[in-house]
Amino acid sequence: MATVRCDHCGALIQDSATMVDHGGLVYCCANCSSAVEQQGSGSDPQSPEHENDLRCRHCGTPIADESTMMSRGDDPYCCGNCYQMAA
Ligand SMILES: [Zn+2]
Ligand SMILES: [Zn+2]
Ligand SMILES: [Zn+2]
Repeated sequence: MATVRCDHCGALIQDSATMVDHGGLVYCCANCSSAVEQQGSGSDPQSPEHENDLRCRHCGTPIADESTMMSRGDDPYCCGNCYQMAA
């Protein structure tokens, strides 16, 4: 099986359940997918910074979709793929 890595954070995608295929680019989860979209849309004065947003301990992606989030102790991960990368 081919090795697939997240186009945003480079995590090895072992759990395809959280994987997002966005126009041919593959992300480990919706958090990386949306992080890329936010970067690509330029500055948006309407979008507030969420100071309390969780960030993945492995890749630093803001965790907007907690449905794929994993945590080990106090350390949050954006998804099972990053979780396993840090194992
Ligand atoms: Zn990722
Ligand atoms: Zn991550
Ligand atoms: Zn992820």
